[in-house]
Amino acid sequence: MKTRKNDQQRLDDLITIMKKSGFLNDDKVESAIRKIPRHEFVPISLKEEAYEDAPLSIMKNQTISQPSVVSRMTEWLDIREGQKILEIGSGSGWQTAILSYLVGNGKVYSIERHSELVEFAKKNLDKLGITNVKVILGDGSLGFPEESPFNRIIITAACKKIPEPLLGQLSTDGLLIAPVGEFQQSLVLLKNTPQGIVEIKNQPGYVFVPLLGKIDDKKTE
Ligand code: SAM
Repeated sequence: MKTRKNDQQRLDDLITIMKKSGFLNDDKVESAIRKIPRHEFVPISLKEEAYEDAPLSIMKNQTISQPSVVSRMTEWLDIREGQKILEIGSGSGWQTAILSYLVGNGKVYSIERHSELVEFAKKNLDKLGITNVKVILGDGSLGFPEESPFNRIIITAACKKIPEPLLGQLSTDGLLIAPVGEFQQSLVLLKNTPQGIVEIKNQPGYVFVPLLGKIDDKKTE
């Protein structure tokens, strides 16, 4: 008789798949993905699917991001201990928790536009005893000027173009990652150099839910 796999076996399988497909290469990011249990960040009805390499519906028509995409974005951001990070789009808080693990005694500010998701993310982060994160209700396209500059900025929703205010809130040598494009997106990694903003990486083939805010020119729901 075939026995059902437990969460640990499913996580091991997921890690193997992400390594084989080239989406997981960094040991620190692997530790973070192992340490932050994705099944704590999905609705109860989807716990069995938490270790599939797929986005899953959370609420308000939003999704918890696909593990391989979270891994790629996190790896490209090259996060160091002690850094100050700004995340736009908390969703479930899973990516937020991974960032919080990697910054250690640093701090993560995460902005979400749906109050229900702010509460969901906060509850999920609290369950794990995470204290170096502040989840904020608001329009992330405006950034969070009161705590800028940030060493890293991550936008977890698709933007037609990267909102200008965010570029102005990146520290010198800071990195910003975002999915850019309308129907399909490219993952774009930018660096704030002394000579100005420079594109470091650009890879097509991603699909995210849209960034909806004052600065992006899409209509809000
Ligand atoms: N990384 C998250 C996770 O693992 O659960 C998923 C993020 S989800 C793909 C994108 C999130 O961006 C959604 O929760 C959505 O409500 C949020 N969002 C969209 N536009 C926003 C804005 N202008 N400000 C803040 N959050 C926004």
